[in-house]
Amino acid sequence: MVIKPKVRGFICTNAHPVGCAASVQQQLDYVKQQGNLGDGPKNVLVLGCSTGYGLSSRIVSAFGYGAKTLGVCFEKAPTERKTGTAGWYNTAAFHQQANDAGLYAKTLNGDAFSNELKQQVIDELKANVGKVDLIVYSLASPRRTDPATGEVFKSTLKPVGAPYKTKNYDTDKDLVHEVELEAASEEEINNTIKVMGGEDWELWLSALNDADLLADGCKTAAYTYIGKELTWPIYGKATIGKAKEDLDRAASAINSAYANKQVKAYVTSLKAVVTQASSAIPVMPLYISLMYQVMKADGSHEGCIEQILGLFTKKLTVDSPETDDQARLRLDGVETNDETQAKIKSLWDQVTQENFHELSDYAGYHHDFLQLFGFDVPGVDYDQDVEIVVDWS
Ligand code: NAD
Repeated sequence: MVIKPKVRGFICTNAHPVGCAASVQQQLDYVKQQGNLGDGPKNVLVLGCSTGYGLSSRIVSAFGYGAKTLGVCFEKAPTERKTGTAGWYNTAAFHQQANDAGLYAKTLNGDAFSNELKQQVIDELKANVGKVDLIVYSLASPRRTDPATGEVFKSTLKPVGAPYKTKNYDTDKDLVHEVELEAASEEEINNTIKVMGGEDWELWLSALNDADLLADGCKTAAYTYIGKELTWPIYGKATIGKAKEDLDRAASAINSAYANKQVKAYVTSLKAVVTQASSAIPVMPLYISLMYQVMKADGSHEGCIEQILGLFTKKLTVDSPETDDQARLRLDGVETNDETQAKIKSLWDQVTQENFHELSDYAGYHHDFLQLFGFDVPGVDYDQDVEIVVDWS
């Protein structure tokens, strides 16, 4: 099949298997170029392993440290007529590379929030991996079924307290316009905490501990975005930010509960990047396009793989890493420092429909967006007929 991107709003409804494999290869090459990274985790569980920050975490674990990686994701398999999701193809490509390198890799595709999936992970660890020394929590999901009650909770992306009027860029209509986002209700805030807060992270640690699968000194990192004033009204201090605050509570609960095993739980703040999760958040395409413009000009631009390599080499593999005053690991300083933010703010204040493409790096944003789905990847021939049914076992 010859596959061209089918973009609908903030999502692309198909994916290119060869492009996804080339994109995984780019990240892998980057990690291999770093040479020997020294000692690191050996048995790694990555929750949300197929795209974005989780995929990069898996690549750094496996190809930077030679770790066994067990991944969990929620992706759609291809059929003869319809492509699989990008995360499916990324995972297939990762498995191929891991097999070629003689590295153990297994991926369980299903609902990470469920008891059944947790049990499958436990069975697999017991059979083929052993105790884990690193657990990466990188799920981004719009809904969660509570495993105890079966109730389905949906997250919302809304301001908290008062409605918020802001500039936005509509990627479909190529339009810079004002949007007014209504404030979330108390129920919407609580539901978002239920989906993206720390409860499920704690349940994972508890299940693994009960099964005696936490290695002494095991580390666990849950990813967050804190950002600054420009994004606070829709992220940091909005419904999703409230959920992310709950990660701080969960980290300290995990640290106390498993102190006897010296388990260390870290909320880890990463910079904004283009992923399927972030492109769905209002304001983010505009903010990231302006941020790209500034950070590329300053030579400080980083994507998922650079951030995650920094996380592993500067934080997760050192004793007593530097944290902020809330014991969080911070990799986002490249973006949130005052100088960078002032430059982004200056562009933000100037940007209009007329000058948007001049002031921003939307071209860079759009390229990264397409690449998430395996399109616009250098070196890939998109006129070529490709096999879309690809498996990873
Ligand atoms: P993403 O959409 O690229 O990845 C989400 C992952 O979660 C995928 O592997 C997906 O398959 C998996 N997933 C979703 N629902 C699942 C379920 N029910 N069961 C199993 N797997 C499921 O997202 P991302 O942007 O890489 O986000 C990962 C984490 O990083 C999130 O916590 C996010 O808040 C955080 N973060 C993102 C950014 C950013 O700019 N993208 C910045 C800082 C922090």
